Amino acid sequence: MRPNPLTDDAPGPGRERQAKLAALLFPAAEVAVRARRIHDAMLEQSPQLRAPNFTMIGTDDLEALFSLYDREFFRGLLGEMLMEDGAHPMGFRLSRRLTRAGGQTMRQFRRVRKKDGRTVHQVEYEISVSTTLLFGTFKDVEREVIVGGLVCADRLEALQRIFEHELLHLAEFLGWGQSSCSAENFHRLSRRIFGHEGVTHDLVTPREQAAVAFDVRVGDDVRFDLEGTTYRGRINRITRRATVLVESPQGELFTDGHRYLTFYVPLPLLRKDEGR
Ligand SMILES: [Zn+2]
Repeated sequence: MRPNPLTDDAPGPGRERQAKLAALLFPAAEVAVRARRIHDAMLEQSPQLRAPNFTMIGTDDLEALFSLYDREFFRGLLGEMLMEDGAHPMGFRLSRRLTRAGGQTMRQFRRVRKKDGRTVHQVEYEISVSTTLLFGTFKDVEREVIVGGLVCADRLEALQRIFEHELLHLAEFLGWGQSSCSAENFHRLSRRIFGHEGVTHDLVTPREQAAVAFDVRVGDDVRFDLEGTTYRGRINRITRRATVLVESPQGELFTDGHRYLTFYVPLPLLRKDEGR
């Protein structure tokens, strides 16, 4: 059993909240108008976001997005419920580590001892947004970008779609006490509130960016220079760096029967090794 944030001093998830959240409904045209208002407000207010394809962002931008979205799409319900649960203000984080998911919404329970000696589980929320995907998109790779089933015209729109998805996770946690974007409740909310047609994204991953910007792919033979030595190996994985396996007697034994040393190489340092 999950610890229940519904201690006697907080309303917590339940029917009442579910009814309020499930009643939110915006026709597509209205969604577009409201999302555009947020887009414009961000560009106007943020010291970091100077252009739709901004190159800097701060966690204060995510805080500002939250306030705008709560007002435009949730009638202030999210802030209200967070407050009721003693989870206000919630946390926001920019993450370079997220290289597949565009964002992440975390819920944690912290044990807090009350004055009367009782221990309660205090709930905390945090939304992270992947800067790796955000800044990798609308950069070297030119193609249509779709998040939540909607085409994004610029980086700020992509951020908005990611953020909308995460806000739905938050709304589910607050209303239902659990959240899953593969379940029908999530899909229903995402259609009704944001007009989303799906729950996936095709933001440019480091892997795709590497292919376009540096012309390297998983499986490619590459060489790179490190402290005066040239190494030759094969790309095994690409995240923020490429994982390159270099055959060496000092290396670790792999399932193919060979020994390899593992190097984590920044992509710009890699050269395709055509001569092998
Ligand atoms: Zn999700």
